Amino acid sequence: MSNAFDTNLQFLSGVGPRRALLLEKELGMGTVGDLLSCYPFRYIDRSRFYAIRELHPDLGYVQIRGHFSSMSVQGQGPKKRLTALFTDGLGEIEVVFFQGIKWVQAKIMTGVEYVLFGKVSVFNQSLNMVHPEVEQPFGAPLHGTASMQALYPGTEKLRNNGINQKFFSRLMAEALAKMKGQVSETLPSGLIQSLKLISKAEALANIHFPANKVLLAKAQQRLKFEELFYIQLDLLKQKSLRLSSLRGLRLVKIGEHFNNCYHKLPFSLTNAQKRALKEIRQDTGSGKQMNRLLQGDVGSGKTMVALLSVLIAIDNGFQACMMAPTEILARQHFASISKLTAGGSTTVGLLTGSTKRSERKKLFQALADGSLHLLVGTHALIEEQVQFANLGFVVIDEQHRFGVDQRARLWSKNQAPPHILVMTATPIPRTLAMTLYGDLDVSVIDELPPGRQPVKSLHFNDSQRLRVFGFMKEQIKTGRQVYVVYPLIKESEKMDYQNLEEGYEHVSRAFPLPDYFTSVVHGQQKSEDKAFEMNRFIEGKTHIMVATSVIEVGVDVPNASVMVIESAERFGLSQLHQLRGRVGRGAAQSYCIFMTGHKLTKEARQRIELLCASNDGFEIAEADLKLRGPGDLEGTRQSGIAFELKIADLAKDGQLLELARKTAIQVLAQDSLLQQAQNSILAAELQRLHKEVTDYSRIS
Ligand code: ADP
Ligand code: MG
Repeated sequence: MSNAFDTNLQFLSGVGPRRALLLEKELGMGTVGDLLSCYPFRYIDRSRFYAIRELHPDLGYVQIRGHFSSMSVQGQGPKKRLTALFTDGLGEIEVVFFQGIKWVQAKIMTGVEYVLFGKVSVFNQSLNMVHPEVEQPFGAPLHGTASMQALYPGTEKLRNNGINQKFFSRLMAEALAKMKGQVSETLPSGLIQSLKLISKAEALANIHFPANKVLLAKAQQRLKFEELFYIQLDLLKQKSLRLSSLRGLRLVKIGEHFNNCYHKLPFSLTNAQKRALKEIRQDTGSGKQMNRLLQGDVGSGKTMVALLSVLIAIDNGFQACMMAPTEILARQHFASISKLTAGGSTTVGLLTGSTKRSERKKLFQALADGSLHLLVGTHALIEEQVQFANLGFVVIDEQHRFGVDQRARLWSKNQAPPHILVMTATPIPRTLAMTLYGDLDVSVIDELPPGRQPVKSLHFNDSQRLRVFGFMKEQIKTGRQVYVVYPLIKESEKMDYQNLEEGYEHVSRAFPLPDYFTSVVHGQQKSEDKAFEMNRFIEGKTHIMVATSVIEVGVDVPNASVMVIESAERFGLSQLHQLRGRVGRGAAQSYCIFMTGHKLTKEARQRIELLCASNDGFEIAEADLKLRGPGDLEGTRQSGIAFELKIADLAKDGQLLELARKTAIQVLAQDSLLQQAQNSILAAELQRLHKEVTDYSRIS
């Protein structure tokens, strides 16, 4: 399909090959279509003028009116700049130009009225404006007659090459003019009518040059809806395809493997665990192939549910595997599962990167002849040589660390695809779960086993470390163990963060032998060393575990009651919450201590305060989404469609997302393969979006 949308940007006036290359490099836009789908990140109300006296840096971009009272050139060479004072009679602000000084000197006069449009910032404790756009009052407005002016993402490099807001604005106007009458609709007319959306052409015009606030809102709604709708349509279509084309292995029987473990449990399952197990049983007994996400806060008992499901699969004559993201965790799963299944006939093996060759051979043999029921391991499980006789159930722990293709490779280890259960302890806000895992069914464990006391969280700064050490000593005296976690090992030199090696020395000095024993674990150790150190801590032979965030995921040492997180400002909210989840697993009161520097950014302070106030993983995840935006969350390319949202915001557009999902479900219920005439636009657009991803992955 070749149309005006595909026109290379260099054919717009003022662009040319050099700027086109720059736009491609900096913003990834090559065509007029790319340009028009680069949506503004903000709008300024250009009908409003600020008084200079009311300006402050939080205002961002503003418009002021007045005249220059003085102008002078200072400095030499690259430091050369033109400084001017701009006044509206009541207040005064400094205006600075580093480039185009000659032009400014030639065109701009003192004492004449101008309108300045720019960003207020602070320099040397006073306000200034660097490189504002300067216009004659009552001159022609930038483009169109809109009072709402769009702002586009820019970069330093672009600005240095004359690609500023004004340039963008002009380019958009030209692109829109070129496209006039040629913008093809991307949603079926039935949907546009029933949802009362505006047309694509009108939406594009108004997103860039809003005629008024109402039309701007409508344009945003239309484009956001479209974006979310296609993601849902894609995910749900894939899901229905999967359900209709695949026959699931039926797991109906409950037998000795399950009973042996279940009846020996020293506790009863929580209601949330029972519910999750029931949902899994429903899927796996139905003849459908299960693809389910098991979500629950750290320590909520997901692994228990997964194990019981695995045992049912074994009772039905199938093999199972459980994949963990780290070797430490795989070992720990293996150890606890071996204990839980002891005394019965369930056979369990462990495969990691460091499993010896001879051992591997035995494992592969036992897998192939079916005598090994459950294989626990790391990434090593997806290797080619790992061949099961009859794989029926796959558990993936902490899946946000695994790519989709890795999931797919596990699938292919059996002729009929096995049931898949993905566990994640990163609570994902509902809107995000719907988008990321829209093709999975979700079970939530929203209840902790009884008898756990919530972890107490405290914030200290570095100068209070001796107090913290004192507290650690008290806890150790009562028989407890302590984690001390550092963000990174060998932080780049210019950053003044505590690194692990230094920290380890510090801790060893404050907690000397023979009274105290300390383990150290970090990402650069050999896996045997890691396991050795870890085991000493698990077995209670060491009091303190000094570690990088490798321990983040899943380690279970109920006797550990204190988690000290150094440079806590360096971690994200969810990560801090995960780390905190390492303690509070036994009956004793546990503590999490966030250590930070004295000076904190507003964001970092907010994060720590929120954590000290809440233990609820979902609440924290919602807040995290709002603070950071979804971009940072891992695994955001779940569907085939590229996942960088261009306009919708998962933190804010939850309702629209629900609508998009509901609409996609309705469409597919009528026409699951999108073969009907009225849906041809949908089929074509999905195909185009998929192609975009492929092209993109080829160049990146
Ligand atoms: P998760 O995988 O969600 O982090 P686990 O399944 O590892 O949680 O369980 C954490 C700890 O709680 C384990 O020591 C486990 O034996 C224990 N546990 C699991 N379910 C229960 C329950 N219903 N009652 C008491 N303890 C439980
Ligand atoms: Mg776990």
